[in-house]
Amino acid sequence: MDETQLLGTLKEYFGYDSFRPLQKKIIDAVFNGKDNLVIMPTGGGKSICYQLPAILLPQITLVISPLIALMKDQVDGLIANGVSAAYLNSSQQEADQQAIFQKIDNNELKLLYVAPESLQFVDRILTAGKVSLIAIDEAHCISSWGHDFRPAYTQLGYLKNRFPSTPVIALTATADKATRNDICNQLNIPDAKKHVASFDRKNLSLEVRPGLKRFEQIAGFVQKRRKESGIIYCLSRKTTEELAAKLQAKGFKAEAYHAGINHEERSAIQDAFINDEKQIICATIAFGMGIDKSNIRWVIHYNMPKNMEGYYQEIGRAGRDGLPSDTLLFHSYADVVQLQKFASNAANEEVQLAKLERMKQYSEALTCRRKILLNYFGELKHEDCGNCDICKNPPKFFDGTIIAQKALSCIFRLKGNEPVTTVIDVLRGSQNEAVLSKNYQSLPTYGAGGEISWHHWQQYIIQLINIGYAEVAFHKNNHLQLTKAAKNVLFEGEKVRLAEVPDRKAIRKESTET
Ligand code: ADP
Ligand code: ZN
Repeated sequence: MDETQLLGTLKEYFGYDSFRPLQKKIIDAVFNGKDNLVIMPTGGGKSICYQLPAILLPQITLVISPLIALMKDQVDGLIANGVSAAYLNSSQQEADQQAIFQKIDNNELKLLYVAPESLQFVDRILTAGKVSLIAIDEAHCISSWGHDFRPAYTQLGYLKNRFPSTPVIALTATADKATRNDICNQLNIPDAKKHVASFDRKNLSLEVRPGLKRFEQIAGFVQKRRKESGIIYCLSRKTTEELAAKLQAKGFKAEAYHAGINHEERSAIQDAFINDEKQIICATIAFGMGIDKSNIRWVIHYNMPKNMEGYYQEIGRAGRDGLPSDTLLFHSYADVVQLQKFASNAANEEVQLAKLERMKQYSEALTCRRKILLNYFGELKHEDCGNCDICKNPPKFFDGTIIAQKALSCIFRLKGNEPVTTVIDVLRGSQNEAVLSKNYQSLPTYGAGGEISWHHWQQYIIQLINIGYAEVAFHKNNHLQLTKAAKNVLFEGEKVRLAEVPDRKAIRKESTET
């Protein structure tokens, strides 16, 4: 497809003069008939990657999308732009569905949105020649390693079998490395080209504080930002209401928002926030999906999110206009325990607990937080960011190269087949069952770090994970494995800087008080 035609279509139907980074490459790959996986943060511009090809392709583009409300918004937006689009779901009248089937038969429709539960409709009416492109939005929902698994998505692998020569484009805003591969395998597009946009939002400052006297801290924070809009995320409905009431008592235009409030009232609150009539929303995670407000200046997490994906999405609602914005996370052990309880009732308990553990490690980190966050999404950064609390107020560092070498070579000797606890036991020369039963006392690294306490080893290993030399394979029994970057330390003499580990009792005391 030639460039002028693409740009012309972009201008005519979407009103934009140029593509964003990656959009053009992705669209070219779609026209070349390739399967694609697109990983781009919210607001990055994923929709155009399939909507624009859909306009130019001869037949229908089938879009799988999980939320009926979002589906309707998208279709309304497309129709307003002059694109023929429709959606099918089980809540529609039979007559409306018939009208859509008729349009499909007459080849009058460019995009057809369908919920994954309603695929049987599609099968009935679409023959192979009628589908030009299959787009799968929120593709992480297919993977139980992701953070928002939806069983109905698991049927989608069938689409590639049914339409083997139709290109598939899967899109998501969040997927760690393991989840990305799982998405492609389950969709039967193992050779899909992966397009990963940068997740770096440099304008967002990152800060974590112990969850001590949280209300006073928040009051001080918002006092300095009297005219700036922000969101405070809480775990429970009750907390959102209490917090909003306390802020109102201090004269702030604050409002609680959660799924227990009726639909009309909720949209009134949203509108008031968008129009700057309300300054602060105290919300459960129900708030924010699909809200388009570019000048949110700050986001506070009153409670810890349950995983890094959620955290990233929620802080990402601040500063969409690119201007400096602040984020603040309160870290408390009480929250961790609460979240562990929730996770332990879930179907994919092990994955959820491991993701929570990463969140906890991020909160306790002693190295640049942005590096950790980006590393989690597979983006390796070498420079410290200068815009997080650690960079602004760094702990004391020392040359930890020997410690790192010992730990990494121990993981290497254990062939990536053991969890962190066993790695530490071997380093410390423990004589417990986990070690002796597998004869690990005969390994060269056995007892190489006996002079370092268990707690210190744990903290150093977390740092090594956070820097990106090792990773927890949460889909393989949480075994600790080396990354490619570890080679530089083991074989190329790369120096490793570690942060001194602060006294453990002091931290615990501070952050269990609330
Ligand atoms: P995502 O689905 O990745 O969250 P959207 O597709 O909704 O993002 O796009 C986010 C915003 O960016 C929308 O308002 C969209 O119109 C706008 N946008 C997308 N592509 C471009 C572009 N090439 N130029 C300008 N704005 C764009
Ligand atoms: Zn930093």
